[in-house]
Amino acid sequence: GKVLLTGASGFIAATVLRAYLKAGHTVRFTVRSDDKAQQIVANNPEFTSLLEAAIVPDIAAKGAYDEALRDDSLDAVVHTASPFFTDVTDPQLLLRPAVEGTLNLLHAVAKFAPRVKRVIITSSFAAMINESKGNWPGHEYNEDDWNPITDQQALSGGIVTYRASKTFAERAAWNFVADKKPSFDLVTLNPPMVYGPIINTQRLSALNESSQRFWKFLSGQMKEIPTSSSPLWVDVRDVAAAHLAAYEKPAAGGKRFFIVADEWYSNQDIADIFRKHFPEVRDKVPEGTPGRGFHLKPEEIYTHNNSRSKEILGITYRSFETCATDAGRSILELAKAE
Ligand code: NDP
Repeated sequence: GKVLLTGASGFIAATVLRAYLKAGHTVRFTVRSDDKAQQIVANNPEFTSLLEAAIVPDIAAKGAYDEALRDDSLDAVVHTASPFFTDVTDPQLLLRPAVEGTLNLLHAVAKFAPRVKRVIITSSFAAMINESKGNWPGHEYNEDDWNPITDQQALSGGIVTYRASKTFAERAAWNFVADKKPSFDLVTLNPPMVYGPIINTQRLSALNESSQRFWKFLSGQMKEIPTSSSPLWVDVRDVAAAHLAAYEKPAAGGKRFFIVADEWYSNQDIADIFRKHFPEVRDKVPEGTPGRGFHLKPEEIYTHNNSRSKEILGITYRSFETCATDAGRSILELAKAE
């Protein structure tokens, strides 16, 4: 088949792209600049015949995706492009591209790409979490959970604004299909913190938000082990497998999926795994209390249910040790090359 992938330059998108190409699909991808388009083609030399670039400089601009969608041969769209940063100066820099980007895309699909049967959106656990409940002992997070954040709270900055951007964007997408009843269906994928091997950049300075955390552990910038906030995470390769299955499995249509590993993780686990597997940087990684794991007991914090992703998408989740080792190794290789 042929799909359109937005935000192909991103950390998650690079692995999603690889998964689609390996499965033999043709991918028309969007990035903000020609430079980035060329980098993506160069990153995938064995698949150049399956790649087509489309430049979308500003996803929040009206009609942003119209040109990219003028393609009768597309049968699905995968939307990953969305700002992910938490040093928020102007909340609209997060909220507008997230929400308007999603709506511009859906309008363009409905208008210009009649063959598209499915739109798959990378949402987030951020669109599920209820911050006011804190650790919420006894609660099981699953696909019925929606972040109840208000327009007013969305302006408070930091992670709160990022979470709002994901919540409002996903809600806008579900509302769009409910109101407009387009000829495509919608799938949303909601991962918590995503970690894994870096394949989208050669530069440490360009590491995405979640990978920067690992670099802090490996580079000596982390002197003490900070208390973890959430035990939930997922491997980027499992996220990519979910994006591919969301396209290939008819039964995924119209559903939301919580894409989260079976196993918990903690900052202590990151340190333990790095100290075990990377003797060359062992002394830079804080020691903390080896083997301590996450600081709360299972009954002191929410649980998570990933069974829908296993049953319908067929995902099997990697262990944190595998993920952190492979991610850490790829980051150390980038560091060595600099
Ligand atoms: P990256 O920052 O690596 O990728 C973000 C992508 O979105 C890039 O392609 C980026 O383009 C593009 N983008 C960001 N802002 C804009 C904008 N204003 N206009 C156009 N394009 C923009 O992050 P991730 O790969 O981690 O995130 C990808 C998706 O996954 C996002 O939707 C994010 O919310 C979601 N997600 C990520 C999680 C994580 O832990 N990493 C967890 C849960 C969800 P450019 O390269 O040009 O900047």
